[in-house]
Amino acid sequence: MAMIEIKDLHKSYQMGSNSLHVLKGINFSVEAGELVAIMGSSGSGKSTLLNILGMLDEANEGSYVLDGVPIKNLNETKAAQYRNKFLGFIFQSFNLINYKSAAENVALPLYYQRMPRKERQEKAIKYLEQVGLKEWATHLPSELSGGQKQRVAIARAMAAEPKVLLADEPTGALDSKTSYEVMDLIQKINDAGNTILVVTHEPDIADMCKRIVHLKDGVIVEDKKVKQVRAAQYV
Ligand code: ADP
Ligand code: MG
Repeated sequence: MAMIEIKDLHKSYQMGSNSLHVLKGINFSVEAGELVAIMGSSGSGKSTLLNILGMLDEANEGSYVLDGVPIKNLNETKAAQYRNKFLGFIFQSFNLINYKSAAENVALPLYYQRMPRKERQEKAIKYLEQVGLKEWATHLPSELSGGQKQRVAIARAMAAEPKVLLADEPTGALDSKTSYEVMDLIQKINDAGNTILVVTHEPDIADMCKRIVHLKDGVIVEDKKVKQVRAAQYV
């Protein structure tokens, strides 16, 4: 059974009397353990697709099954529950809370899972350690570099132990060397068996995945397995 299965997905945005047809019949599936790049130029619908996969938005047509669960007509409570349980998010702009320490940022999703405080704190430290930032646990985001912030965000996404990690241009705000460090971490997380989708418009980042799905004007124009370039050689 596929981890992600979408069939004939359509999405339009309604703006007044105008409608913008952004996704025009997307079909694809992702098996557990894959590392997939979603490529395409700006405006091709990458974020729209990722937001639907992340249950942050809904398609107008088509089906989406996540780990055997049909994602359809969920109320906001149910959707939030599934999001928390199934999905981890990594964004270009990190989306950390500025007045919370690195450890508090990582622990926050666990609070929403109603995990007891002590367990949350232990888990936050464990995952910060995994991204090499244990010594930075008490620091605020403003005291961290861009690469460190993204690693905190990755620790936060991992701490909830999601089935799928969704990253929207995770290296978009970082220089090349820092980007490769983040990709090295993403590759290692994938090596451990985690399923990851990375939206990017940068070919060198896409080549560090194992499969590239190319979107153009709302349709998949290419979907190919690639020999993964390891990021470690560049860091
Ligand atoms: P990408 O991530 O590939 O750059 P997006 O999925 O963000 O592309 O956007 C695809 C198209 O949909 C763009 O033309 C964009 O302007 C439009 N769009 C995205 N989000 C919205 C929205 N909430 N309302 C209206 N149009 C949107
Ligand atoms: Mg985008």
